[in-house]
Amino acid sequence: KLGNETAKAELGRATWKYFHTVFARFPDTPSSEEQEALRSWVYLFQRLYPCGECANHFGEILAKFPPQVSGRSSAAVWGCHVHNEVNKSLKKELFDCSRIGDFYDCGCAEDDKGELD
Ligand code: FAD
Repeated sequence: KLGNETAKAELGRATWKYFHTVFARFPDTPSSEEQEALRSWVYLFQRLYPCGECANHFGEILAKFPPQVSGRSSAAVWGCHVHNEVNKSLKKELFDCSRIGDFYDCGCAEDDKGELD
């Protein structure tokens, strides 16, 4: 069926920005509750993603590459990796995940201690 490719791409760009920024703000040393929260969020994010075709495809990626929630850096690199998996399937350029560290800025310098609360 004919979708709306422009809307789908815009939703994707906005979502990826949010997705990566969540990881960029995750604690370096999360509690087990924070780790569980991130893991649950990733799976709910996938289940509820508005583009059904995208959600199904992303579910297959999550099955192969489960969320890494042990800390900010591993979460951010994992997020970069799964986005690259989507990029691959759409024949897009891959992102250099060694640059992920300072790429996503939440603009929230006031509370830059790196904690969520
Ligand atoms: P996007 O892929 O949207 O990326 C936006 C920006 O993020 C890039 O310009 C770059 O600066 C940065 N970036 C790129 N790669 C990475 C990375 N690996 N890590 C960190 N930052 C990066 N579209 C479909 O047509 N079919 C699908 O099945 C599909 N599945 C999707 C699944 C999910 C979960 C999401 C969020 C989106 C999906 N999309 C899908 C949309 C698609 O991924 C793109 O968002 C859309 O095609 C627009 O692409 P873009 O080239 O503007 O860059």
